[in-house]
Amino acid sequence: MADLVKPTPSPCRVDLAGQVALVTGASRGIGKAIAQQLATCGAAVACVARTVEGLQATLHAIRDAGGMAEPFAGDVGQAADVARIVEAVDARWGGIHILVNNAGITRDALMLRMDDAAWNDVIQTNLNSAFYFMRAVGAVMIRQRYGRIINISSVSGLSGNPGQANYSASKAGLIGLTRTVAKELASRKITVNAVAPGFIGTDMTAALPDKIKEKVKEWIPMGRMGQPEEIADLVTYLAGPGASYLTGQVIAVDGGMTA
Ligand code: NAD
Repeated sequence: MADLVKPTPSPCRVDLAGQVALVTGASRGIGKAIAQQLATCGAAVACVARTVEGLQATLHAIRDAGGMAEPFAGDVGQAADVARIVEAVDARWGGIHILVNNAGITRDALMLRMDDAAWNDVIQTNLNSAFYFMRAVGAVMIRQRYGRIINISSVSGLSGNPGQANYSASKAGLIGLTRTVAKELASRKITVNAVAPGFIGTDMTAALPDKIKEKVKEWIPMGRMGQPEEIADLVTYLAGPGASYLTGQVIAVDGGMTA
């Protein structure tokens, strides 16, 4: 039997017609796959990254397939940029139904050698950004009395990973944020969940030395890295009607690494 991997993007099994989705870090990798998959299912997608130029490949892929997408540029770690983007998306489409906090960076170093900038940059981009977006989009979702928030955490946030004190702390922080906001917003028909990917083939993991990439495969029971589309499929399910009673959860998509 052929390897059980997903086509790009997967055929749609979730109806998101009439919904507006905001995806951060949509210029490449997991965020691009999520934006494409949500658009394939009928959502209008607000694609967020640092620059509009960086988003062109995503916009073309979505529009060429008949989907709807627009670019919104800004630094997700800056509260003022986030407020501006959320206001612009709400003004453009009159609501935001799905928020995916996906933008993230790594600045790896062993804890004793980690400088303040490496710590602060990662916390700001990976964790503060999600707080800023959830606070701003949460107000829109409360107005609608409907919303789906999905935060992209990591197995590093569940298990820790040497050399990633900043990254692991940011991803573990996202899990606490997810569980708390899920409880705060549950009565307004807003669900909040986290997805924790294992090792996924993107620019982020391409930067790892080949020796580490081979070693990583030995830690994964399925014996291979995941694909961005395999994260996008779960995000799409969480964004859809089938996940209406699912909130405050963290779901690992890691080929069995944390089983
Ligand atoms: P990537 O480096 O390929 O893409 C990251 C995206 O975030 C890009 O679009 C980039 O432009 C955007 N971004 C980064 N900083 C930003 C900022 N300040 N403002 C606006 N946009 C910004 O990464 P990826 O592998 O696709 O990872 C996506 C998410 O998944 C990240 O949160 C990452 O931590 C998480 N994750 C990835 C893996 C993996 O193996 N690739 C594993 C676990 C978790």
